[in-house]
Amino acid sequence: MTDNASTILEKLVGMSRRIGDPSRDLVILGDGNTSARIDSDTFWVKASGAMLEGISADGFTEVRFAPILDILKRPPSDDDDMKRLLSAARVDPEGRHPSIETVFHALALTECGAKYVAHTHPIALNSILCSRNAREALSGHLFSETALYLGPEPIIIDYADPGLPIARSLLGEIRAYIARWGQAPRVFYLLNHGMVALGQSAQEAENITAMAVKSARILLGTYALGGPNFISENDVMRIINRPDEEFRRKLANAV
Ligand SMILES: [Zn+2]
Repeated sequence: MTDNASTILEKLVGMSRRIGDPSRDLVILGDGNTSARIDSDTFWVKASGAMLEGISADGFTEVRFAPILDILKRPPSDDDDMKRLLSAARVDPEGRHPSIETVFHALALTECGAKYVAHTHPIALNSILCSRNAREALSGHLFSETALYLGPEPIIIDYADPGLPIARSLLGEIRAYIARWGQAPRVFYLLNHGMVALGQSAQEAENITAMAVKSARILLGTYALGGPNFISENDVMRIINRPDEEFRRKLANAV
């Protein structure tokens, strides 16, 4: 049985509250945003100005994919126009205004086939994403679980203005990634900004976030002893293609 809009919202609220827990160091204040696909026409996304900590159902707004994705084809003339276009995508015209990051959520939920998306600014990961050598530090896998849960590699994009510029950078990278790997990415790293976890379930988006943060903490530790010693590409592919590992991943993600 597929979940209906209110069940999806309930799961989204639960995930958002857990990642918004201040003790996890993933977001503070109004940082981050989350979303979930309802069906092929609409999705829930965090409302502009809402905080993930303690968020409830009224912190989300339902928007239509088509007008959001149209923004990529017909860019707004200025910030006010962008806000107007985002607001026009609301299913309920009286509903709350969607987050400025709604466009990249729409891409994650369509181009990448994700069902739940979690965007956070984790302190441990941002210590790397805000470093000069971030790309080099993130160019391999330190242990097998990152390959298993995060996929063969992340998409990494340079800093871009929140809103449409981030979504524009991501679109080309997503298509190149799918062409290269034959599968959708599970994580985006936004340099000088944060991460985006793409899950088939709310649990998966949360697991990807937790695994990326664990890896970031270990990665930072490796620089005290000569830098990261990545596992080989063969070992990465072996983990990704092992049926027992895939079974373990699906069980943990409750997909
Ligand atoms: Zn952000």
